[in-house]
Amino acid sequence: MYEKNQIITLTIDDLGTDGEGIGKDNGFTFFVKDGIPGDEIEARVLKLKKNYGYAKVEKVIKPSPFRVTAPCEHARRCGGCQIMEMSYDKQLEFKSKKVFGNLVRIGGIDEEYLKTIFEPIIGMEGEPLRYRNKAQYPVGRNKDGEIVTGFYAGRTHSIIHNTDCLLGATENKDVLEAVLDYMNSEGIEPYNEETGAGIIRHVLIRKGFASSELMVCIVVNSDKLPKSEKLVDRLVKIAGMKSISYSINKSRNNVIMGDNYHVLWGGSTISDTMRRPDDSSVTFSISPLSFYQVNPIQTEKLYGTALEFAGLTGKENVWDLYCGIGTISLFMAANAAMVYGVEIIPQAIDDANANAKANGINNVKFFVGEAEKVLPEFYASTSDEQMKSPDVICIDPPRKGCDEACLETMVKMSPDRIVYVSCDSATLARDVKYLVANGYELKRVRTVDMFGNSVHCESVCLLKKLV
Ligand code: SAH
Repeated sequence: MYEKNQIITLTIDDLGTDGEGIGKDNGFTFFVKDGIPGDEIEARVLKLKKNYGYAKVEKVIKPSPFRVTAPCEHARRCGGCQIMEMSYDKQLEFKSKKVFGNLVRIGGIDEEYLKTIFEPIIGMEGEPLRYRNKAQYPVGRNKDGEIVTGFYAGRTHSIIHNTDCLLGATENKDVLEAVLDYMNSEGIEPYNEETGAGIIRHVLIRKGFASSELMVCIVVNSDKLPKSEKLVDRLVKIAGMKSISYSINKSRNNVIMGDNYHVLWGGSTISDTMRRPDDSSVTFSISPLSFYQVNPIQTEKLYGTALEFAGLTGKENVWDLYCGIGTISLFMAANAAMVYGVEIIPQAIDDANANAKANGINNVKFFVGEAEKVLPEFYASTSDEQMKSPDVICIDPPRKGCDEACLETMVKMSPDRIVYVSCDSATLARDVKYLVANGYELKRVRTVDMFGNSVHCESVCLLKKLV
């Protein structure tokens, strides 16, 4: 048997769903963090279960042909980029296989059939770095007592100091250095997760890639940000600064943002512009609490795919569930008769309405609430046939997927096409199974890589009603 901390020799021959390498030693399976298929390694045993164990790479004896040197020195310790030591082509293959596998195993889709409709993954062009328009840096003290900002080490809450994550905008560093300088000069204490004392918890930074506008929102564990003018003085010097605010979050949990925010300087939003496939564009206002896709270049491709799958001719009535600030709704509106959006966060719907107005789009209507409540309520109460029997329903739920009450009503509304945009292919597959069992056929699947170097990706599925 094995012991903790034992060093073993392994060949990595597969990848797990979280990007960990999988190797077998005399039939005993090890999940190896940072192991790449094809690697021959010395691994340290970390944890043992009855039939499998966890290990980490101690030394690469013979590197896999797919192994690359991570461009970031923090790659192994930081929890963000799980597969940065894998070549980008291999990353794309891994993501594509994961989505395919989930649709077969969880979704019950016939493998041979799926092969005929599964389209090639849309990867990023060029290096998958510097693509994120949003960063959320935790603030705390390191073991030497210094105030640091950076990233949580994988699966822990100790902060690795880093002001320049290579996935983010270069301006993040200037913002974080300004925040640290203000805290050190003015004696502002970072939040301490263990004691619940201290003030500054997180720094949220957003950049509109098309507009070059910057937003900073400081998450505080108090009613005010003390001496905030001293921070504002520093931040306004950074080119592109448009909005500085703070958000109060006094909870003792892992949620980053508070429920509200207060503007200290500038406006409450920044803007960003996205191109549609016909080369027209839509401009969005984004506030600190609203969801906005983090990779704007790939988002155009994702929404373009959703639009293509929706097959709109200008006559259709469309529901866009989980619509956020109305991005997909506004992307589709020019090709639809009417689009109805549903979103749980009221501020996001404020943004959605403002965005529709700013773009001169009148054929959209947004509703605040849970999709699983709003949709069944409308279905039960409205006599408006347009709303009750749409041609297309587009959904883009968070990772946990769609509530069954929502899926049930979607089926009752009986749209010709359902376009499902998903950031978690396991819940996507579960929901596709439901829809396939209730009169829909899976017609097209396309994965888009929005999160290079991490294990995540987005997928779009087209389901068509069987006649
Ligand atoms: N389609 C948008 C947002 C997708 S993210 C875009 O691409 O930008 C998922 C969105 O669903 C988030 O805005 C989140 O606030 C919202 N949401 C989460 N649970 C919800 C629910 N039960 N009902 C409606 N919206 C929900």
